[in-house]
Amino acid sequence: MIANFPDMIAGSLNLSEPWYVEGAEFSPEKKEVHIYVNVREGAEFACPSCGGATVRNGYEPTERVWRHGDCLFYPSFVHCKRPRVRCPHCGTKQISAPFERKNSRFTLLFEGYAMLILADMPRAKAAEILRCNEKSLSAILSYWVNEAVSRQDLKGLVRLAVDETSRLRGHDYVTVFVDADRRRVIDVEQGREKSVISTFAEKLEKHGGSKEAVCAVTSDMSKSYLPGIAENFPNALSVIDKFHVKQILTNALDMVRKEEQKSSEAKQALFQGRRLFMIPRGRMSEQQVAKLDSLSKRYPKTGKAYSIVAALDDFYACYTVEEARNAFDSLYSWMRMRRCRLQPMKDAATTLRNHKEKILAYFYHRITNAVCEGINSMIQAAKRKARGFNTYEGFASMIYLVAGKLQLAVPNPF
Ligand SMILES: [Zn+2]
Repeated sequence: MIANFPDMIAGSLNLSEPWYVEGAEFSPEKKEVHIYVNVREGAEFACPSCGGATVRNGYEPTERVWRHGDCLFYPSFVHCKRPRVRCPHCGTKQISAPFERKNSRFTLLFEGYAMLILADMPRAKAAEILRCNEKSLSAILSYWVNEAVSRQDLKGLVRLAVDETSRLRGHDYVTVFVDADRRRVIDVEQGREKSVISTFAEKLEKHGGSKEAVCAVTSDMSKSYLPGIAENFPNALSVIDKFHVKQILTNALDMVRKEEQKSSEAKQALFQGRRLFMIPRGRMSEQQVAKLDSLSKRYPKTGKAYSIVAALDDFYACYTVEEARNAFDSLYSWMRMRRCRLQPMKDAATTLRNHKEKILAYFYHRITNAVCEGINSMIQAAKRKARGFNTYEGFASMIYLVAGKLQLAVPNPF
């Protein structure tokens, strides 16, 4: 055996006197490494409950085995019979080993690896690399994430973004709360009812924050979020975020296009060109612009709806609130015009008018919104990584891990 091999192993297990590596063996048939850890005879330990002096009281009756990080490219296992002590105040107590977390059959080093790998790849792939089952990985993930979330400090939260997302398209909604200034997810709640807002507000207060200190909350136009925000954050300006306003108009555009597409002549060309209408004009190639202009001429309804969506970008480019108010009014009257004749756009106009002040509030809290757009893509990335987690808990843990900037307490293996 390499001279300092036991030292290396002891290091990876965080062992120091009186703990030591008694031996290690490689099992060629099973392709496994087995490590045996012991504790010096007669070593003294403080009581794990009260910290007082104790006397040794033998060992636990049966040996325990923990899965450790790979050793020489093979899965390795740590064997240990942990010592017991007798405390005059607390009775007989089990001493835990320096490499373990209570109730886990994995060493801390292994869990550290697992957390790094989980942040980067789907769970099934992580399980394959770590050679363990997916369920164990979920348990490790939720332990460390919950531990970090429970220690979160939410003092100083002033600008909040609230959004819903679903685990599967249209199923199992969760509400995600984001600290817009620190750009991180601070809470994930199951469902998208009004009550999730007050649940969050309570957590905020428990974690050092204040409901009164929140000065702006951005959200979509949901009938459950908006009243929840008004009730729980008395000093906050409610802002409808740009992403959701845009979504209302692009959905209307899509309906107009589908309607026009029904005439058999238009069917194919419009269907093929449908993605073109979703690209912001500034990001189009010359070729795409030419194609879009010709489609707009041939299919004037879709073309007009597209111009309305483009005008929304101009609205958001406004510099002052006054300027924006004028742009809003002219956009609205354009959409409502009798000549416009596009019912989906008329309906969208009504929705916008109903939320006019909250949409204009964007211009008071520009920063929050710029941040929220980034947040939205963060949540989408978290969702992709959370694929394979088929429970709410796993899904939520993954969103925290990817977008929560958590201070994980699990030891980093590097
Ligand atoms: Zn004690």
